[in-house]
Amino acid sequence: MKESDMIDHRRLGRELELFASDPLAGAGLPIWLPAGAAARHAVEEYVRDLERRAGYRHVYSPPLGKRELFELSGHLGYFADDMFPPMRLSADDEFVLRPALCPHHALVFRARGRSYRDLPLRVAEIGGMYRAERSGVLGGLSRVRAISLNDAHNFCALEQVGDEVREILRLIREAHAALGVRPAGFRLSLRGPGEKYVGDDAQWARAEELLRAALDGVDHHEGPGEAAFYGPKIDIQVVDPAGRESTISTIQLDFDKPERFDLSYTDADGSRKRPVMVHRSLVGSMERLFAYLIEVHAGAFPAWYAPVQLVLLPVDDGQADAAGDLAGRAEAAGLRAEVSRAGSLGARIRDAAGRKVPYVGVIGPREAADGSVSLRLRDGRGLDPMPAADALGLVGAVVAARSGDLLPPA
Ligand SMILES: [Zn+2]
Repeated sequence: MKESDMIDHRRLGRELELFASDPLAGAGLPIWLPAGAAARHAVEEYVRDLERRAGYRHVYSPPLGKRELFELSGHLGYFADDMFPPMRLSADDEFVLRPALCPHHALVFRARGRSYRDLPLRVAEIGGMYRAERSGVLGGLSRVRAISLNDAHNFCALEQVGDEVREILRLIREAHAALGVRPAGFRLSLRGPGEKYVGDDAQWARAEELLRAALDGVDHHEGPGEAAFYGPKIDIQVVDPAGRESTISTIQLDFDKPERFDLSYTDADGSRKRPVMVHRSLVGSMERLFAYLIEVHAGAFPAWYAPVQLVLLPVDDGQADAAGDLAGRAEAAGLRAEVSRAGSLGARIRDAAGRKVPYVGVIGPREAADGSVSLRLRDGRGLDPMPAADALGLVGAVVAARSGDLLPPA
């Protein structure tokens, strides 16, 4: 077996029951199973919390909208090849599955009058969108047709763009550290020859200049032809264990959509001004992110987003109640815990190891009698029996710190 096959997220996803693909559901339309959904839920909660603390305001918007919305946004003019064909309800009522969240977020900005005091207005959503990928390129989570994007659009004054982009870069680094993402490089993605781009040269030059300034002191390379159709961007690349490069995080400057949607705010002197729209994703789509995380961690996620964090093993039926009681206390403390009773102790320990569970708690007659538990860590280390409350405190401290280690700092 080749190294790249051994750490293929599709194989691990099947073995760890993280997600399933079914031809009846359709190619590129994977289903997140309970274990994968638990991990994703933990990551989504973390991302929303990080954003909330950084001044983002979360919204929900529908994954489909009227054809006219995507004509106005330019997507149907510039991006139609990547979209599913429109759905016609009646002669004058057509809907499209959206290929991006920006049009809806522009409508959030436009939902009421805006003043300079509202800026930067940071509209965030982990939202659904669709891409009509050809079936030949689909597989697992890395190329999908239904995408859940960690997205935001920051509407700001031109003079705020530099600080805004630098702050987004800081949030990206924080999220990468917590998740265990190891960026391979930063790319300044620029226009290339012969492609379709909107906006005039002066806008492109100004946007490039702003992004270049924000990258001052950051090691990066330039990627001609890698820009979005509406503007240049900063892409943060990762490399999977098979050597394939993909973009996880992105920051894009857009002068075009504020024009198209006629977005404006009242400045301090009473004049009407056009905001700049910064499209940004801290961690990309949940699908591509997890394709990467499954591979880079070989399925052994940091404890804070492990699907099951603690498995409790009674040595025999005499300790079943003690194990059930401790599992209940762990759940009440916000941890994801299970009791495993079927089979020999050795088989149950091997099963938990195979599922990459970070903590196994063994409860024998002595532990049951004095309310203690013996923790075994995923990496093979075993700890002396300790009071159950201390064990829950240890696991809880590692989870709360979103640490990649399995023991709290000494
Ligand atoms: Zn966008």
